[in-house]
Amino acid sequence: MIPDPDDSAGDPAERLRRVRLRIEQAARAAGRDAAEVRLLAVSKTFGAEAVAAMARCGQTEFGENYVQEGVAKMAALRAEWPTLCWHFIGPLQSNKTRDVAAGFDWVHSIDRLSVAQRLSAQRGSPAQGGAPAPLQVCLQVNVSGEASKSGVSPEQLPGLAREVARLPGLRLRGLMGIPAPAVDLAAQRAPFARLRELRDQLVAHQGLALDTLSMGMSADLEAAVLEGATIVRVGSALFGERPRRAAP
Ligand SMILES: *Cc1c(COP(=O)(O)O)cnc(C)c1O
Repeated sequence: MIPDPDDSAGDPAERLRRVRLRIEQAARAAGRDAAEVRLLAVSKTFGAEAVAAMARCGQTEFGENYVQEGVAKMAALRAEWPTLCWHFIGPLQSNKTRDVAAGFDWVHSIDRLSVAQRLSAQRGSPAQGGAPAPLQVCLQVNVSGEASKSGVSPEQLPGLAREVARLPGLRLRGLMGIPAPAVDLAAQRAPFARLRELRDQLVAHQGLALDTLSMGMSADLEAAVLEGATIVRVGSALFGERPRRAAP
């Protein structure tokens, strides 16, 4: 289940084919339909041309971690690729919410109410007329000692979910997690299973319609699919190793 080092080799079409195959095999092992798992291509640090190359291979959903970088890429690609779906997956500071609310379709990394409230207000609500569709959002949960320390704690999750679900400019879709790297499949699966249980509890106890589990990356997407991922966020297996980047 550990991806072989060759995964970064090959042209975009070949890389995409291999990642889709990994998703299909994991889905089959889990008795799931692979069509339930959306592939999000994480294009952070790669240029608009790399995104366009993936789009030509049929990939439609892209994930970005840095607001300015994402906004620039969207602008560069809008004319030729107007229907791509853009997901913001990185840490989000309050002073950057306006560009995210205006330009992205999804945000996976909400971990506090103040940011959600800003995004909702800046997105606008249908009642205001002419507003875009609500921003689709996930709450980032801190499962298993995330290296980044971002994410709401499991204890504070129900309260945050209740508040975010009420915001008119947002549509709460589910949960996102970035567990610490683990080498074997069982260790990889545990935090993903925890995230699924947390989602199931919110559905059962709060009546929230949460259909999304955003979990799994290049190194652990099989474990995530086995535990119910509906979106896997894959970067290096699709685009190759990332160039080193200074901290944002
Ligand atoms: C970079 C990143 C990914 C993709 O990671 P890879 O290991 O390159 O697949 C997924 N999710 C988030 C939040 C990221 O920052």
